[in-house]
Amino acid sequence: AWTDVQAPVAVAVEVDGAPGLPRSAGLPDADFAHDGQITKSPVRALALSALAPRPGERLWDIGAGSGSVSVEWCLAGGLSTAIEQQPQRVANIQANVQGFGLSHALTVVHGHAPEALAGLPPPQAIFVGGGFDMALAAVLPGLAPRGCRLVVNAVTLETEAALLQCHAVHGGELLRIELAHAAPLGRMRGWQPSRPVVQWRTVL
Ligand code: SAH
Repeated sequence: AWTDVQAPVAVAVEVDGAPGLPRSAGLPDADFAHDGQITKSPVRALALSALAPRPGERLWDIGAGSGSVSVEWCLAGGLSTAIEQQPQRVANIQANVQGFGLSHALTVVHGHAPEALAGLPPPQAIFVGGGFDMALAAVLPGLAPRGCRLVVNAVTLETEAALLQCHAVHGGELLRIELAHAAPLGRMRGWQPSRPVVQWRTVL
């Protein structure tokens, strides 16, 4: 009955001015060492949701950038191998491993995918945040165990085109993420749109 419905209870997000510690994915971008190439907080939350981490599972984070996806995977109890080709970003990942206290869970590989993937411990999930193309798509099923979850984010038209083709051939789910946040516009406010991100998820 309607009379049984409880009014929502206000949830305190601050105690004595302290912000508290979030238990869900999508930590603030400012919590990570990064150079601007970082999967932004709300898009990262959707990536983690699709990756569906479970304790003890291993992630391959290909084109790891700052390592933010790996960090959040490991905070959920997983293990991650972060593969990144750019030395300055490898240093950022290492700083984040230290900052989040994840040296037991997060391994950084400085290298170029797919060559750098050979011989790595097998994953239960793969995230590709950079370097995806049809060539990588072709080799991943041979490198990862059957049943491995695959989530790919595309920001460029070229990568998006590859994802559209992969989806047509292999199925899975395509999600287009278009977000905007309120920002000053003169003396008023306006919506500042972010670049659209296309997320493809499938099971190998
Ligand atoms: N998800 C990351 C952002 C990724 S930006 C984060 O949240 O920080 C994409 C990254 O992919 C860049 O750092 C780029 O250097 C890397 N990259 C692109 N192609 C690659 C390849 N073939 N092998 C390894 N890294 C690659």
